[in-house]
Amino acid sequence: MNLLAGKNALVFGLANERSIAWGITKAFHQQGAKIGVSYAGEVLERRVRPLAESLEIDFVEQCDVSQDNQIQAVAERAAEKFGEIDILVHSIGFANRDDLTGPYYQTSRSGFHLALDISAYSFTALAKAFQPILRQGGSLLTLTFHASERVYPTYNVMAIAKAALEASVRYLAYDLGGQGVRVNAISAGPIRTLAAAGVSSFKTMYREFTKVAPLRQNITIEDVGNAAVFLCSDMASKTTGQILFVDSGFNILGLTEIVE
Ligand code: NAD
Repeated sequence: MNLLAGKNALVFGLANERSIAWGITKAFHQQGAKIGVSYAGEVLERRVRPLAESLEIDFVEQCDVSQDNQIQAVAERAAEKFGEIDILVHSIGFANRDDLTGPYYQTSRSGFHLALDISAYSFTALAKAFQPILRQGGSLLTLTFHASERVYPTYNVMAIAKAALEASVRYLAYDLGGQGVRVNAISAGPIRTLAAAGVSSFKTMYREFTKVAPLRQNITIEDVGNAAVFLCSDMASKTTGQILFVDSGFNILGLTEIVE
């Protein structure tokens, strides 16, 4: 299938082969998209470049999304390289490790600002910078987690950032709808990645997940990649402002029964 043939896609948030951004990049490649990728900083370059080269991706740009000038520079280079953009994926999150352990009320003001800036505002900052070159029929996609709606102890300030991110999805969907651009999020179940390793209760959650989730299976980056293809393809042309769960059905549970 070539669901994304003729589409130009930019994927932000590639760190390594475990990244959700990599699952999405691979799925986009399989569906015929022309792809560019972006990573946070120099230390990741030696991991990211070989991954990109393995799919013959030659637009590989460093961008710290807390810096408006870096976002603007990537938008300008993308305009030169691709002309217009059909798909922009934001697969980025960050909070201080200290803020992802212990009680939420211990969160510092600076830790709150940092987590909200990088994990939530950056999606809006990317939308703002790329808006002039988004093609009609295009779409933006971000990654979120169910902790935005329900308490997952120690997810703390990242949960608050995800709630802000999900609200941003709805406001951006409204604003960009007139331009024919859709905005959605995937709410993924637990996946073992670099970012997940920072959450102190993650290991337990990951282990227990298959005992209680309706489908009794963990989520893979390939599962998320396939859902991303759907949301960013013309198959989802009337779907915007939505949070799509890719979590083996975990979010529907009230009381859980542990099946040994
Ligand atoms: P990951 O560590 O592979 O990806 C996180 C990315 O954010 C990294 O590439 C990192 O470099 C990037 N990043 C951090 N600060 C940045 C900055 N200032 N500028 C640019 N990039 C920056 O982990 P992941 O699990 O693939 O995370 C991707 C997204 O998926 C995150 O938003 C995360 O919250 C979300 N998510 C993850 C899970 C999970 O269980 N892994 C579940 C649901 C949602």
